[in-house]
Amino acid sequence: MPVNILFSARPALWPVYQPLLTQGLKDAGLDFTLATDLAADEVDYVVYAPNGGLSDFSPYTRLKAVLSLWAGVESIVGNDTLTVPLARMVDHGLTQGMTEWVVGHVLRYHLGIDRHITGQDGIWIPDPPPLASQRRVAVLGLGALGRAAAQALAALNFNVTGWSRSPKSLAGVICLHGADGLCAALSSAEIVVLLLPDTPATENTLNAETLALLPKGARVINPGRGALIDDEALLSALDSGQIGHATLDVFRTEPLPPEHPYWSHPNVTVTPHIASETRPETAAQVICENIRRGEAGEPFLHLVDRTLGY
Ligand code: NDP
Repeated sequence: MPVNILFSARPALWPVYQPLLTQGLKDAGLDFTLATDLAADEVDYVVYAPNGGLSDFSPYTRLKAVLSLWAGVESIVGNDTLTVPLARMVDHGLTQGMTEWVVGHVLRYHLGIDRHITGQDGIWIPDPPPLASQRRVAVLGLGALGRAAAQALAALNFNVTGWSRSPKSLAGVICLHGADGLCAALSSAEIVVLLLPDTPATENTLNAETLALLPKGARVINPGRGALIDDEALLSALDSGQIGHATLDVFRTEPLPPEHPYWSHPNVTVTPHIASETRPETAAQVICENIRRGEAGEPFLHLVDRTLGY
């Protein structure tokens, strides 16, 4: 009997993924049906993105797993109708894109690039930046994305501290965990990068209290999720100068409403959730490998811990 795979994501993605998944499933030697519309009780796997519109999994009675195209699973992880394994996306292309975005924005702050782009005023102030080894950067979240970004920054000689839920060991990165670890990571960070998932435990990780731990004038870079930051507290810290500048890629409401104060704040850069994205060529391989594993009775890759929410 063929393996039935439902593709449930934004319709525009279907012509992109359909040939890639077809080839990958053929290469895996599988007999399969891949479609955007299948009888629910005949579906074995769902290739899933939140914008596909699927939210009730109860009619999917023979489902073996849901395979997310997204790394962040906050919109599905608490779905009570989902009782089968949920795998999230860990994709080389996604990781590489995020590393490039984070390194670029850290370098913007480190080198003071804005001053020279916006300050062509005829005044000659030779004020070279310090070396990266004298710049302290904290990366909150040391998963697939945070770990790669932290190590890329460490490879450039930045003084990098990472923070995660469980203890970690990463070459070139001071690794901390727990509440004390967060205080220590923030208290010396001139630049803080958020790459945590959106869970009940990470909401408002940056709030009035934790923002106050940062050295005055610190910069915040958030490509994680909007809910990681208490927006009112950040705006207040920006207004007081406690935070010198923030680069925000993700928001509690997306698209960020035109009237939101972040758009007009002189010390905020808004980017429209473009830090990185799943790259179809590499992501399709991950999906096909997980279906192959499921059919071979092998453990799935990148399973979400539903109790932790990521
Ligand atoms: P992972 O699940 O691989 O890593 C999450 C990291 O966060 C882990 O190091 C984990 O700790 C840590 N963490 C989780 N909860 C806590 C906590 N309560 N306290 C301290 N640390 C915690 O995720 P990824 O690295 O793949 O992705 C991170 C997030 O990036 C995604 O969830 C998504 O929201 C966002 N993202 C944003 C994109 C964009 O374009 N802006 C694109 C893709 C993803 P531990 O290692 O101990 O488990």
